[in-house]
Amino acid sequence: MILFKTTPDIHNHLEKLRTGGSSIGFVPTMGALHAGHLSLVDQSKKNTNITVCSIFVNPTQFNDPQDFARYPVTLDQDLLLLEKAGCDIVFLPSVGEVYPNGTATGEKFDLGYLESILEGKYRPGHFQGVCQVVHRLLEIVRPDTLFLGRKDYQQCMVIKKLVALSGWNIALQFVPTLREPSGLAMSSRNMRLSGEDKEAATAIYRSLLYIKQNLRPGVVIPLVETARQQLINAGFSAIDYVTIADAETLEEIVTWNGKTKTVALVAAFIGGVRLIDNMIVSSE
Ligand code: AMP
Repeated sequence: MILFKTTPDIHNHLEKLRTGGSSIGFVPTMGALHAGHLSLVDQSKKNTNITVCSIFVNPTQFNDPQDFARYPVTLDQDLLLLEKAGCDIVFLPSVGEVYPNGTATGEKFDLGYLESILEGKYRPGHFQGVCQVVHRLLEIVRPDTLFLGRKDYQQCMVIKKLVALSGWNIALQFVPTLREPSGLAMSSRNMRLSGEDKEAATAIYRSLLYIKQNLRPGVVIPLVETARQQLINAGFSAIDYVTIADAETLEEIVTWNGKTKTVALVAAFIGGVRLIDNMIVSSE
């Protein structure tokens, strides 16, 4: 496994591999790696010749400075995990490397309504920050295939839009969410939960399953309300959203026609940690 910290070094190295005919898979991360991240690396290894993983805690996507300050950093362990997973190249850029002109001068991406709903509504500016960093990383790595987790459902849609806007010929692969045996979606943020809160947080998975098992054509508001109540009963202190949406457009569904592919999405706080999760709740 080769580590790069600067843009020209990784760029030149990848250019040689590309010229030699290798296909490149890319897994961008913010570190604090877990098995969910490694499943993306695994997918990349199965589908491309060279797997590049980046670790960069991107300051511009944190609307809450406290959240940024508390984001877990476990670099030594991350590198061991990536080596073991067979990752070929790790990119560890500094803030200056990603944002040579500073973090305040970013390009603005036209994400349309996707930017103002769900995560976009509760984390203003978040998706512009995500697009800034992903755009820059894609420019540097120029992968054939980009691997993203469905755990961040809306982010997958945002990056699909970003790639379309940029006109790049990059294939996208969305990888299923890896969960703990308890059902809790793996997340770097779980490291900040106490044992008790981690146990209680499994209510998110159960509430999504509840929606999936009880979704019927007609008005879905009572279903969503029950799921929300389940989270409150389990000890969640605040809920940003529990919603059922069109799986293709993310538009909220109030009355389900029994046909539209739907996804249920949750963002809620427990023990001061904000967790998100989602599940396709109609037949695929
Ligand atoms: P992050 O480090 O949180 O920015 O995540 C980096 C990538 O890993 C993103 O594409 C995430 O969607 C993906 N990811 C995070 N958690 C999981 C999980 N539990 N299962 C699958 N992919 C995940």
